[in-house]
Amino acid sequence: MAFEGLSERLQKAFAGLRRKGKVTEDDVREAMREIRLALLEADVNFGVVKDFVKDVREKAVGAEVLDSLTPAQQIIKIVNDELTKTMGETAVPLNKSPHIPTVIMMAGLQGAGKTTTVGKLSKYLMDNDHARPLLIAADVYRPAAIEQLKTIGNQLNVPVFDMGTDVDPVEIVRQGMAQAALQKNDYVIIDTAGRLQIDDALMTELDNIKALAHPDEILLVVDSMTGQAATDVAKGFNERLDITGVVLTKLDGDTRGGAALSIRAVTGKPIKFVGQGEKMDALDVFYPDRMANRILGMGDMLTLIDKAQQNYDEKQAQEMAEKIQQNSFDFNDFLDQMDQISNMGPMEDLLKMIPGLANNPAAANIQMSPKDIGHMKAIVYSMTPAERVNPDLLNPSRRRRIAAGSGRPVPEVNRMIKQFNQSKKMMNQMSKGNFGGMEGMFGN
Ligand code: GDP
Repeated sequence: MAFEGLSERLQKAFAGLRRKGKVTEDDVREAMREIRLALLEADVNFGVVKDFVKDVREKAVGAEVLDSLTPAQQIIKIVNDELTKTMGETAVPLNKSPHIPTVIMMAGLQGAGKTTTVGKLSKYLMDNDHARPLLIAADVYRPAAIEQLKTIGNQLNVPVFDMGTDVDPVEIVRQGMAQAALQKNDYVIIDTAGRLQIDDALMTELDNIKALAHPDEILLVVDSMTGQAATDVAKGFNERLDITGVVLTKLDGDTRGGAALSIRAVTGKPIKFVGQGEKMDALDVFYPDRMANRILGMGDMLTLIDKAQQNYDEKQAQEMAEKIQQNSFDFNDFLDQMDQISNMGPMEDLLKMIPGLANNPAAANIQMSPKDIGHMKAIVYSMTPAERVNPDLLNPSRRRRIAAGSGRPVPEVNRMIKQFNQSKKMMNQMSKGNFGGMEGMFGN
């Protein structure tokens, strides 16, 4: 997961404070030293670390913090607020033009994930804004870039405008924009050329494309795994191109987090999205406050709720709630729920977002792998329609038949039915406002 290293080191710094009943200025100084080292080790820009530590220290040594009943918690809160501030306070939405098309120009060095992000962004816009984008393939230097974009376009069912590699990119953009006007596309996303490093020829080309296309948004794609270098790249591009935002890719592989923490402070430009995987849906809006919570191991309840909402349709949820209240929740509903949980991503990742579970070893014992879910589904599929609707029918001989049909051992079938009955009972109680007995929730 992203930021593990930083997260662990900060937790250690706080553990030192938490152990003390009374916190002195010396304790704060010691904790700040550790926080400073943790940030530098995470490859956060030096100037950013300096300002960060100074601000936190000033706020933390105040009498109202040190003399309070919970000084350690208050200091954690100060660090949390400062992390949020450093990353830009609130999420900044994409610019949208009042008339069509909204033009988004993508820039970045080779390998940063630019072409992939063009695809992810189209999917994001289609899912969230019913967009009909046109992609323009203007990366004529990287040999496979155009083919890669066309493959992505095909996969997402999005048109890609290209003129091969022998035409000037500015001309490609000109004709692509004309095509978008004809087809009334509401978004145009331009995939520009990358280079191995910033050079003048690249910047001139990007300048020319910018002058022609008047983009509403110039998104710079940078690879978060390159840490400090990503921050420098962002600074370089911004000085020349006056970007409007940053997409930070490969956060899924970034244990340090230096780029996420530095880019906003160094460039003044917001990180708008983060890429967290190679698949087309692995693009998330960047929320500084949630990211800060995650770095501090407080979990990320809001992201969890968002994910749940994306996978839950309101009407279905309402129906489910009614069934639970009437105690008529059956195995068919259980199957639906399993599907929804599977769609939300790996269970371990979801659990990490819950405060208190993020760094709790007990969470490691709560497992529901896709394989487990598959087994549960196999068991339900082996039930007759009547059994699914009326679990009371499930006597021992029926259970043996189900075990044979699903290829799972009888004790496992028994356990699952028991869990189902417990969950059903618990959900029914909860729906009546009784929140006791939640310990049975994970089937223990
Ligand atoms: P470009 O040269 O900037 O156009 O880079 P590409 O879009 O071709 O991406 C380079 C590599 O990074 C590809 O293998 C992508 O699958 C991978 N990649 C892009 N974004 C992410 C991400 O958010 N997470 C991970 N793990 N890989 C990514």
